[in-house]
Formats: sequence, C-alpha cells, structure tokens
Amino acid sequence: MSDVEVLGRIGPEGPSLFVLYTGGTFGMGADASGSLVPLDLRDIRDHLPFLRRLPLALTVATFVHPIDSSSMRPSDWIDIADAIVDQAPGHAGVVVLHGTDTMAYTASALSFLLEGIDIPIVLTGAQRSVTELRSDGRENLVTALAIAAGHLRGDVLVPEVTVFFADLLLRGNRSVKVHADSYHGFASPNLPPLATAGVSIEFASNVIRAPSAGPIRRNGGMSSDVTGMRLHPGIDGYDLEAALARPGLRGFVLEAYGAGNGPTAQWFLNHVQSAAERGVAVVVTTQCRAGSVVGGRYASGSALLAAGAVPGGDMTFEAALTKLMVLTDRHGVGDVRRLMQQDLAGELSV
Ligand code: ASP
Repeated sequence: MSDVEVLGRIGPEGPSLFVLYTGGTFGMGADASGSLVPLDLRDIRDHLPFLRRLPLALTVATFVHPIDSSSMRPSDWIDIADAIVDQAPGHAGVVVLHGTDTMAYTASALSFLLEGIDIPIVLTGAQRSVTELRSDGRENLVTALAIAAGHLRGDVLVPEVTVFFADLLLRGNRSVKVHADSYHGFASPNLPPLATAGVSIEFASNVIRAPSAGPIRRNGGMSSDVTGMRLHPGIDGYDLEAALARPGLRGFVLEAYGAGNGPTAQWFLNHVQSAAERGVAVVVTTQCRAGSVVGGRYASGSALLAAGAVPGGDMTFEAALTKLMVLTDRHGVGDVRRLMQQDLAGELSV
C-alpha cells in the first residue's frame, strides 16, 4: 500500500466514511502550458469547505502521486483494493475519487479483486475540476458520500462497488464511460441504475445485490498477461498475430461485432485456434453498447467459438478484461474459461 497516504480525519461525528483521492479531473488545474494535470489534495481542499459541515466523519487518504486515470495500471488497482481492505473496518462506506477515463475499469477490477463486500464502495469524479465554478465534482461527491453513508433511506445500503455520476448510481462492473464532455458521462446499458438521484434518491432495491459476508478482503492479485483487441474491417493476420504473440499471454478479449461475430476467413480462425490451443483464454465480447454475445446465432459467431473462444455474454469490455486479469492470476485456463461464463459479481446476465 506504499502509494496511498492517510492524511487524517475531517468533519464532526456521524457515520464514518473512508475517502480516497486518486486524481482525475475532479482535482485538476492547468500546468504552465495550459493542459490539465492532477493537483495535490492539499491544494484543492479550500474548494471543498462543505466537507466540514456534513454530518459525517471522513478519513481522508490520497495517492502520494495523484494521476490522470489514463495512466491507471493494474498495480494501482491493487493499491486501491488494499487501502480499502485496510480502512473498511470501522467505516460505514468508502468513496473513491477517480478520473473518469478509466473509472469503469477500476470499478470492474475492484468488484472482482475484493471479496466479502458488506459496505458501499462508490467511485465518483468530475468532468470539470472543483477549482472551477461550474464543477460537477461537488454534487457528485456529496451524493456519493450520502449513498456511501447509507443514511438517506434508513437501512438502504448498496453493498457493491458502484459508480455515481450526475444523477445515476450504476453497478461498477456494468458501467461504461459514454460521453467525453457531458455531465451525464456514464451509463450501464445492460442493467438499470441501482439508484437515481433527484430531490430524493430513489433506490432500485430489486437490482441491488445482497451484502456478502464480510470483512472485505483481497484474495489474489491481477495478472498483467491479458490484453484485448477490437475487430474492424481491414484487420489482417499481422494485427492479430502481433497481439496474440505477446509473451506469456494468458487471456485475450476479442471485441467482436454484433452478437459476437467475426470474419470467417481461415487465417483469422487459425490465429484464434492456435492461441486457444496454447492455453490462452480467448473471450468474445460485443462492440455494441447494449445486448449480448450469443453463441450459434450466426455462422460467423459459431466459428469463433468452434475455434476455442468462449462467449462473454453481456459483459462490458472493461468487465471482461479485468475479470480475466483476476481469474488468470488464480486459476488454470480450464477454470478461467468456465468462470468467465459464470456471474461472479453481478457483471453477467445468465
Ligand atoms: N483524463 C481525466 C482522467 O481520467 C478525465 C477525467 O477525470 O474526467 O483522469
């Protein structure tokens, strides 16, 4: 946990929450050339005076070096997970402030890395920095804290890894960033929101997962021997061969067309087959925003599965990739292929 520093506690007594700042636009300012870079949390706290007035006790921590989330790596997910495991006892919930670019990946990774999730873990961020007047960061943070504290509706808790953004609370491993500019930056096209925040916060209790038996713990790490590729017309053997030739490769997400379709050309299928035969778990997801990979609907999809790939159902690319990273760290390829087709953390409709 070397990259996370606990700064201290703020706020009066009340439900206690752990807040971890990792960087992202939420806390950015312009550098000498005018480009946005993450600021130190100490430099933005004057823009968050309301935190002291909330009926909450916050334990605040920060990445020692806050990052633009486009630089997020699997080792950072381990640091975030370990900070949560360390701080969860004694806290009613967790809020992670994170850049929007890879927030869906981090939320997905945490949902697979952590077991025994019995309190809310809410990721949020902003499209405009809190140092600016029209920032969406303040609203996002306050509602994320309220949801993490679980006190707005008495006993309604959301004991899951979630993303809160604008007015939607989404399951983390179902979320995707859908807009580069809009304050409504996230959606979960294959699952209804877990809550919608207006004047009051309406929770969809039938969609929210039951709490696991705590305490929160991390079982295993993340393999970096996993990558992926988006199919496109014009792809050739060189592209696929180069991607699959990655030394030590154990998992590969192929973002295919529609219901899980790809070219039926033999060169294409041969590459998939030889990767599968040497023990790479090849998982097919769809480039469509919504819907599912269905084995057998089209010959072009069946051929991929016959070559040894497994269907990723309605998992997002983000969920499939991070789930593969976690599973390949723990299991052999047979179990990885089987578990990729099972719902482990609400990521897959079965
Ligand atoms: N590049 C930023 C990041 O992901 C974008 C944002 O936070 O909105 O850190």
